[in-house]
Amino acid sequence: MKVIDELKACNRLPSPKGVALALMQVCQREDATTQEVAKIVQTDPALSGCVIKQANSAAHGGARPVASVNEAVMRLGIGTVRQLALGFSLVDQHLAGPCKAFDYPRFWSHSLLMALAMQDLGSHTRAGAADELFACGLLARIGTLALATAYPAEYAELLQTAGLEASLIQQEQQRLETDHNQLTMAMLSDWGIPKALSEPVFHHEDPAKAGFASGTRAYMLVHLLYMAKRLADLGVAEEIERNRITAELMLLGGNIGIDAEGLGARVDSIMPQWVEWGALLKVPASSLPPFAKMDCTPTPRPDTEPGATAMRILLVEDSASSRQLLEKILQQDGHTVYSATNGREALAMALEVMPQVVMTDWVMPEMDGLELCKALRATEWGRDLYLLMLTSVESEEDLIKAYEAGVDEYVTKPVNPGALQARLRAAWRYVKLQEQWEGDRAQLKQFAAELAIANRKLKHAALTDFLTGLFNRRAAMDLLAQAWSSATRANSPLVVMAIDIDHFKGINDQHGHAVGDQVLREVAKTLRAAARKEDNVCRVGGEEFLVICQNADFKAAVHSAERLRQTVHSLDIPVGQALIKTSVSIGIAQKELGTANADALVGAADTALYAAKKHGRDCTCIIAKGKVTCGNS
Ligand code: GH3
Ligand code: MG
Ligand code: MG
Ligand code: MG
Repeated sequence: MKVIDELKACNRLPSPKGVALALMQVCQREDATTQEVAKIVQTDPALSGCVIKQANSAAHGGARPVASVNEAVMRLGIGTVRQLALGFSLVDQHLAGPCKAFDYPRFWSHSLLMALAMQDLGSHTRAGAADELFACGLLARIGTLALATAYPAEYAELLQTAGLEASLIQQEQQRLETDHNQLTMAMLSDWGIPKALSEPVFHHEDPAKAGFASGTRAYMLVHLLYMAKRLADLGVAEEIERNRITAELMLLGGNIGIDAEGLGARVDSIMPQWVEWGALLKVPASSLPPFAKMDCTPTPRPDTEPGATAMRILLVEDSASSRQLLEKILQQDGHTVYSATNGREALAMALEVMPQVVMTDWVMPEMDGLELCKALRATEWGRDLYLLMLTSVESEEDLIKAYEAGVDEYVTKPVNPGALQARLRAAWRYVKLQEQWEGDRAQLKQFAAELAIANRKLKHAALTDFLTGLFNRRAAMDLLAQAWSSATRANSPLVVMAIDIDHFKGINDQHGHAVGDQVLREVAKTLRAAARKEDNVCRVGGEEFLVICQNADFKAAVHSAERLRQTVHSLDIPVGQALIKTSVSIGIAQKELGTANADALVGAADTALYAAKKHGRDCTCIIAKGKVTCGNS
């Protein structure tokens, strides 16, 4: 059973009671009449008031005001009255509740404002009838109330630890196996609210994720809902947060075709309605300052949160009074300020404090601003600094001189704080871009290095025999091909040895495969150690090896082969308590005039190896001009 069904079965979800319930039942009938509905509404004076108020609201433009419930129901339509009754009945029942961390009055205050925002903002779209949108906004977040009602203790705990609103859904899912949007959607469909409305409601916290096609009703609704939610957030927000929300709202307005100016007027007309409705429903609602004022308050804008745009600024100015004034302005904006009184002092200091911006006076003793800028630009780390020049001169030639010295921007003296802040905002953007670029570059570099290492490892792995660490068959074939062509080109000698462990199968049979592997490793190690440094020792089969000896004359190679054979022969391989003895047979061939290719060379060595086996094993045989000769074993 789904969580929602369980909750419903135990009556743990908020549900309409009394008049609202009766209304819902009547409205389910196809033949319900306006009179019938009005009669039921009239039994509840508070609901009657609300319905009349809604019918007379701004949404109905200049229509003649209605005074009776009957008229109100006619104007609103049965469906809307039903939804309103539902919403209001829920407000009435749930102004307080058992979940300690859930702020019930704030919840309804927010929901009410969301309803009014939906009604007002939606009136200029074709997303739905105004009253329908009102009800939709009022119930859009009912799932949170449902969680608080169904799981008072668990949800209180969750709310106290949840932190960011963005992660609330995840936490709800984790702890309660459902989330407020799922519950809202389920409850809305349960109450007969059409999917066309409940689906956008489900997605309203993250419209982009819904994936509705632009221009559709669902798209319009989901953006409208998000905007209404943010507007409601504004209503209940702390003063410090308001500015950020107003900026976001102005941006969002574009999604539903409302420009920034129009938006201000809208918000200013919605807020007083909130206060009126709040009084009627006994839900808190506060009077907010006009929108334009909230937008202009010097509280932080999105990218100017306290500290967010702070930089390390080196201020260079010889006049003490001017320096103190500038320090104050900069510090007020949250910057970290270092001060120097001339260019020379600044240069020494810059190395130490690594500022992001250097703001320098022009005329100073010892080293002036121009010289300082030139000196900074000449260094590796000073190339990317943001240089701001303070100047009382503003002649064109002087400015050209300043730019030539590497200045990014100038501010005229006496300094106007607004102008200075504007320059610093530009500087901040520059610094951020610079940092991001540096970060990207460092990341790319690291990426490239990692890739090179990974490639090298892969290449190594592809050419290495896993068990012995020797070159594998593939590497052996590559090496042999290279050796063949350079021997052909330089007319230099090339010898190969085919080596095979004797009676290896017997070792496997007697001691097991694992011991066989150990013997293989030991023999491989021994061959590698005993072979000439310049020879390539490869494992080309189970217990078969190929040694490629470039530039080795035949005699030296035979000598080397005998050394290999003898070393293996005298090897004692410890396995448990026992020592295993083993031996190898070796066939040697050299590149001759008649040798067709590398394969033929290996073939010849194999022939010699075969002879060595026949000769009694643990022995070295050579093949020259087709003739095999075996040494003594
Ligand atoms: P010969 O002296 O004629 O070469 O006799 P042999 O027993 O060495 O030759 P044979 O070709 O009959 O057997 C080779 C054995 O090597 C058979 C196979 O099970 C074993 N072998 C091949 N690869 C591996 C390996 O990676 N590990 C182990 N433990 N055994 C292997
Ligand atoms: Mg000066
Ligand atoms: Mg073999
Ligand atoms: Mg063998």
